[in-house]
Amino acid sequence: MNPDESMFRIVPTETLGPCRYDSPLGAMRQRFYTDGEWVIRRTRSHEFEELEGPPFECFERSGAREKLYFRPQDTTVGIVTCGGLCPGINDVIRAITFAAAEGYGVKQVLGFQYGYEGLVAKYYHRPIELNPDNTDDIHEKGGSILKSSRGPQDTGEIVDTLQHYCVDILFAIGGDGTMRGVRDIHDEIARRGLRISVIGVPKTIDNDISLVERTFGYETAVESAWSTITSAHAEAKGYRNGIGLVKLMGRDSGWIAASTALANSNVNFCLIPEVPFDLEPPNGFLEHLRRRLMRRAHAVIVVAEGAGQNLFEGEYERDKSGNKRLHDIGVLLQEQIERFFAEQNTEINLKYFDPSYLIRSTPANANDSEYCLRLGHNAVHAAMAGKTNCIVGLHCGVLVNLPMPMIGERKRVDPNGWTWQSVLQATRQPADMTHEE
Ligand code: ATP
Ligand code: MG
Repeated sequence: MNPDESMFRIVPTETLGPCRYDSPLGAMRQRFYTDGEWVIRRTRSHEFEELEGPPFECFERSGAREKLYFRPQDTTVGIVTCGGLCPGINDVIRAITFAAAEGYGVKQVLGFQYGYEGLVAKYYHRPIELNPDNTDDIHEKGGSILKSSRGPQDTGEIVDTLQHYCVDILFAIGGDGTMRGVRDIHDEIARRGLRISVIGVPKTIDNDISLVERTFGYETAVESAWSTITSAHAEAKGYRNGIGLVKLMGRDSGWIAASTALANSNVNFCLIPEVPFDLEPPNGFLEHLRRRLMRRAHAVIVVAEGAGQNLFEGEYERDKSGNKRLHDIGVLLQEQIERFFAEQNTEINLKYFDPSYLIRSTPANANDSEYCLRLGHNAVHAAMAGKTNCIVGLHCGVLVNLPMPMIGERKRVDPNGWTWQSVLQATRQPADMTHEE
């Protein structure tokens, strides 16, 4: 049944053309989904007063389609992983390989190595052929068996490589930069009039993709961070005025820090990019830390890497992909806490934890592995049905195909929202540690 058009705006994904081939999954008596099954977008209803058009938006449900655009036995699939590591990348590679090779019986699955470099001939990274044998245990390991890279590559040369290897479908697993790459590759494919599907599987440990409820690896990150908090708390309690300072991931969004502070509520201060703070008295963080130590003689602090950037002067350096290199808030806090208490002749014992690379390279936990499997399978279902320039992700508890142009602003922690208010209740830190009026 199609939704009432005065109430619902349907957001279809782009497709390459009509689907003519029967899905081999029919033999398994699987349930097929149709493009007419929709999931209502959760947030638009709150915003609709400012928006034109119908108040609700619907996304297409992911899932196997009865008819396919690509004929499996003629189809070549490519996979590439770019950007930073995140738990679950190998799970997604495996899920795509199994779904494509075992489920649909495609001609071949090629793994392009070292990110988008692997799709540019001059680097001489030859693709490797992936199959159920050489991927069957990769989900037990962290990292990416395909390796990764940063840095700009020429989109024209990438599409030349896709044509050279007769790739029909490219899956790109990566972050915001990789997704911009998907869009550019899609545009170049369209400009050349080619019939190649490009699908993104968004990877961000920070869980900051708009419209996507949860990104893979995020839950594993919170779980790993949980045990770091346990250690930081033990260290803090083991000494007079002990302080455990933990820096976690979260460049623009403090989801990992906030969730970790809720999961392990021994955290007394949680500092995130969305909530600015000052350091100095009378209302800065250091004064509140002093009061906490007076009361309980120990403290655990969690800081997201993107927090407190207002405390630094000077320009940002950039990495190869043009991303800002953030100033190191963990080191700054360590220095400033030590200076502040030294000036007051108060002995403290501070232990600094930076588990970022330990967390990024860890294998996915069971729940993330399950999610990665579903993402990988559904990315393949979408591509085989000829969908392109889209991502798959969880929305309102259901996997949907989201058109790439819909992915907008980063999802950030709302200081007035449920998550942050719970953090304030759990930590009992002041809602405002600035000197702003
Ligand atoms: P992470 O979340 O770990 O930062 P990412 O995908 O954002 O992952 P980047 O290094 O920023 O990581 O980008 C990955 C790849 O995407 C790089 O090869 C980069 O050059 C490419 N890329 C980034 N921005 C664009 C863009 N605007 N157009 C095309 N390609 C891009
Ligand atoms: Mg990025």
